[in-house]
Amino acid sequence: MPDDLHHQLRAGHHPARSMPCPHCGARAHQPCRLRKSGRTIAEHPQRLADWARITACCPECQVEPGTPCRTAGGWAMPAHAIHARRYQEAEETCA
Ligand SMILES: [Zn+2]
Ligand SMILES: [Zn+2]
Repeated sequence: MPDDLHHQLRAGHHPARSMPCPHCGARAHQPCRLRKSGRTIAEHPQRLADWARITACCPECQVEPGTPCRTAGGWAMPAHAIHARRYQEAEETCA
């Protein structure tokens, strides 16, 4: 598919695409796909969360890059559930 090449050359895709997707198994720099139809879609939320978690520390709960967010009670949040401000932090880090 020449489409894949296109994607790599096209500026402006999400920086999370430089990582593999834990949800659909897309490799780094490959777009996410729907499993049934194989249609390419915007990055899965799990991929965005993984990327933000690895890229940025969280301004909300003060964890280091790579560490899952914590709730106010100190419990680790699920890997795909991170504070909204962490996405912003990650985007600024990559900008
Ligand atoms: Zn995906
Ligand atoms: Zn957090």
